[in-house]
Amino acid sequence: MASKPNMSNKKNLMPTQDPAVRAHNFQEVALGYDEAAALDEAARCLNCKNMPCVAGCPVGIHIPAFIARIRELDFEGAYQVITEASSLPAVCGRVCPQESQCEARCVRGIKGEPVGIGRLERFVADWHNAHIESAPEKPAFNGHRVAVIGSGPSGLTCAGDLAKKGYAVTVFEALHIAGGVLVYGIPEFRLPKAIVQKEVDTLKALGVDIQTNVVIGKTLTVDELFADGYEAVFIGSGAGLPNFMNIPGESLMGVYSANEFLTRNNLMKAYREGCDTPVMHAKKTVVVGGGNVAMDAARTAKRLGAEVTIVYRRTEKELPARAEEVEHAREEGIHFQMLTNPLEIEGKDGWVHAIRCQRMRLSEPDASGRARPVPIEGSEVTIEADCVIMAIGTSPNPLIKSTTEGLEVNRRGGIIVEEATGATTKAGVYAGGDAVTGAATVILAMGAGKTAAQAIDAKLSEKKA
Ligand code: FAD
Ligand code: SF4
Ligand code: SF4
Repeated sequence: MASKPNMSNKKNLMPTQDPAVRAHNFQEVALGYDEAAALDEAARCLNCKNMPCVAGCPVGIHIPAFIARIRELDFEGAYQVITEASSLPAVCGRVCPQESQCEARCVRGIKGEPVGIGRLERFVADWHNAHIESAPEKPAFNGHRVAVIGSGPSGLTCAGDLAKKGYAVTVFEALHIAGGVLVYGIPEFRLPKAIVQKEVDTLKALGVDIQTNVVIGKTLTVDELFADGYEAVFIGSGAGLPNFMNIPGESLMGVYSANEFLTRNNLMKAYREGCDTPVMHAKKTVVVGGGNVAMDAARTAKRLGAEVTIVYRRTEKELPARAEEVEHAREEGIHFQMLTNPLEIEGKDGWVHAIRCQRMRLSEPDASGRARPVPIEGSEVTIEADCVIMAIGTSPNPLIKSTTEGLEVNRRGGIIVEEATGATTKAGVYAGGDAVTGAATVILAMGAGKTAAQAIDAKLSEKKA
């Protein structure tokens, strides 16, 4: 290992495409560390004995160990350390909210910037993908069949972990492409589809059967899966049902949910001339919301040629989106109207014409612990727009619950599970990811898929014995 640590208080910069250029293309914005930058960044790690960073990673990646391998130039060894705990390192290295997880606990963050753990994870995963041709061996069939509903990070992880143990796993996916939010929600410029496709191909090589265009609750029910011979079912159906504000004008033409807008662009190539699922090429787009979804929708709209304004009812400090995404959005010329809340979407001949909003101020914290926005009387503002995108959150779709007897959900529609196993209230049925928690993160969904795979294996192994 290099003997001298790098005591710079700053992370190595992540090279990015020029904002003026990237605001007009869909190619990846962050370009990744080269070897020299990765080695320099790895040398910032102090290899702390008590490993505070590991406690901040929801799946407990042995962070100092993988960084130590980088310093030894053993990049494949680093990859192996990461994949002991995580099955999607190229994805998490790109989209994990590192600043509030592993990096938030890094001791180097006390007097400067934390070690760029996510950037190093991405470097290692990209190095592996570029240099190692790994065709996983299909394990011998252990005699048990498991069904997985949904092919997002929770479903893919559960399917992969079980397939490696010899289970015959079938993934049922409602859409025509596997990957969940990783392909239909997060845009290409943040997470290239090829990375997700590689993970899906690995699962197929392990023998996982992925059946697309199958909606559980319509095409087949959970009980029919058991009748077909599946001994356990994992539900990883996400939280894809968009929320709206229920204000006048939301049914006007030119109003989209962020999910619909992003799906049309990401999956159906709506930005291309002559595609079957066109999307508006608006002049002025207003995006309502302040999370990652709002940033993705705004930056996509910008790439389609619109002037884009994000309207958010709190201040920049409370924005739930990752700081890096907000910074990238600003660099690309997205405008922000903070402390502003929509009252009505105004129309002309059935189409969006403007959005009428009210200015807000912050008051004492609400139940979520964040400062509560309250309206300032007589402070209305109207923003001209021909397209409005609602990005104010999503909920789990009630379809599976409504067609599955014995499956209990909470008042927000999240499936109720036993935390340690992912077991639901219906025997043999497990669940995890956004379908349980509501909209959360990739790494939490992945962790839930792992937990359920272990529990399913433990349960079905009892039968084996
Ligand atoms: P999903 O990824 O939602 O996958 C569920 C799958 O189930 C979907 O493919 C769906 O089609 C399928 N399905 C649903 N119902 C059925 C049914 N009845 N039958 C068959 N299939 C069904 N997280 C981060 O960590 N970082 C980010 O930067 C980030 N950005 C995001 C940006 C956007 C635009 C969105 C929408 C989310 C973002 N998230 C981010 C959140 C993250 O993507 C999710 O938390 C994660 O994908 C949840 O994984 P999941 O497996 O539970 O569900
Ligand atoms: Fe950090 Fe996410 Fe990687 Fe864990 S998976 S080490 S939280 S970037
Ligand atoms: Fe390295 Fe930071 Fe973790 Fe310490 S806390 S081992 S410096 S990454």
